[in-house]
Amino acid sequence: MTREESADLLLPGVKHDYSYYENLYPQRNLPDGAIVTRYAPSPTGFIHIGALLQSFISSKMAKQSNGIFFLRIEDTDQKRSIDDGVNKIIRDLEKFDIVFDEGVTKDGDKGSYGPYTQSERKDIYWAFAKKLIIEDKAYPCFCSKEDEALDREKQTAKGERTGYYGYWARCRRLTMEEVIEKINAGEKYIIRLKSNGNFNRKFKFKDCVKGKAEFPENDQDIPIIKSDGLPTYHFAHAIDDHLMGTTHVIRSDEWYPSIPLHTQLFTMLGFKVPKYAHISPLMIEDNGTRRKISKRKDPEAAVSFYHEKGIPNHAIMLYLATVTNSNFEMWMEQNKDKDIDDFTFEFNKMATGGTMFDYDKLINISKNYISKLKATEVYDMALDYAKEYNQDFASLLEKYKDYSIDVFNIEREQKKPRKDIAYFSDAKNQTWYMYDELFKVKDYDWQKINDKKEIKLILNPYFDDYYDMDDDKDIGFNKMKDRTERLGYTSNMKEYKANPDNYKGSIADVSMVIRVALTTLSMTPDLYEIMKLLGVERMKKRVEMALQ
Ligand code: GLU
Repeated sequence: MTREESADLLLPGVKHDYSYYENLYPQRNLPDGAIVTRYAPSPTGFIHIGALLQSFISSKMAKQSNGIFFLRIEDTDQKRSIDDGVNKIIRDLEKFDIVFDEGVTKDGDKGSYGPYTQSERKDIYWAFAKKLIIEDKAYPCFCSKEDEALDREKQTAKGERTGYYGYWARCRRLTMEEVIEKINAGEKYIIRLKSNGNFNRKFKFKDCVKGKAEFPENDQDIPIIKSDGLPTYHFAHAIDDHLMGTTHVIRSDEWYPSIPLHTQLFTMLGFKVPKYAHISPLMIEDNGTRRKISKRKDPEAAVSFYHEKGIPNHAIMLYLATVTNSNFEMWMEQNKDKDIDDFTFEFNKMATGGTMFDYDKLINISKNYISKLKATEVYDMALDYAKEYNQDFASLLEKYKDYSIDVFNIEREQKKPRKDIAYFSDAKNQTWYMYDELFKVKDYDWQKINDKKEIKLILNPYFDDYYDMDDDKDIGFNKMKDRTERLGYTSNMKEYKANPDNYKGSIADVSMVIRVALTTLSMTPDLYEIMKLLGVERMKKRVEMALQ
């Protein structure tokens, strides 16, 4: 039996020879330096923050180099795939402006390098596995899981490296006759790589993020086609990234140790080895030790966590950009009118070890981001959030649309905007007192002046005799000063500091009484703006309530 015949026997029914696929896919015509890269998830569920970071980096690197970013679905481990998993991934990423030029979409494949779903590429993997068998670079293996476990025990007992290699790679030694006999007897088999590596030999490698390193060669005869006929991740990675024209494999650094194997696979298949960029994971501190943020253990690993909190997606992107390149934050400080897309990311400015996940920093970024939005944008976002999580508040926002925009506009759209809202689950907390429907008083936070009679003196008849809606800020302030002096307080803070005993208090104490009466709170944004929005009638009612 020839090698070709044995390859046909092992992998029967392959429609095309590997050269068919080599010729099928056109050369990519892209400018110099263009990065072709991909996001290649297994459709196992929702996107988590680490995956978001990785897809963010990949999309940015492709986009800024006028390259191509595509989505490939790696579903060869069929046990792990979930229903609608692919659509969930696409939908989740879209919210973060991560869109693909090519690959799997909601309406099928887009692009000339498909199919982009691994389970649809079986014929392609088999064609290349056949090529390896014919070239004596792959062989069938009939060992069972139990055989392998037994060997591992022996290896451990002898203090040897575990795995299927060298002497331990027993199916390497099967003759053609033995192979045929086993196949005819219906024995199950997988296809293994016939590794040409020597563990005692080292080779040099340069990762775009981690830099230069030296690795021992791979000498393990790893499985390339599993008993269900589907490829292993390693084999599919080499075939797909070769045929799809990937220039840079940007992926999580759990794959970094696979470099020896992957470069070997590319080489043995006769492919050019792509560049690799291994992205460090986000870490979290747990009982004094650092560990990778975990989908199972950490609520903040799920992107839905931020959604429920009402942190805008763009704020999360800004945080990820900050995490990605050490100089992004400073650049953003110096380029306040620019956005993420104006920044050029560089592999060599990415963290080589783990990056600490800093929740407080994320909140701070979100707070700053929201503070710079227009009142109408804040309104829209607050409404979107409330519609999902607080229908009552959403109804109020809709009922009083213009008024609500004015409320969000207090101390906004100015040089130093107020930073009250850090996430939208807090929007109601920050504004409730501006809505009569929500103004249910429990407590008044009176400060220095908390004597009922004195409070009454200050408040009555302030709104009849002094306050006028049409006054500008200065006139309003002068009237408040006048009122203050008449009551035996002073509006001269310097004078007050020098001789506090000469006065009942200062203008600050007087305006505090007004603030608390109107809002119940001792800390609010600008009182003048609040008063203007409340209007005389509502203020009078609130004063009445406060005096009861
Ligand atoms: N499916 C692999 C994973 O989810 C992809 C790794 C890669 O990007 O090559 O880890």
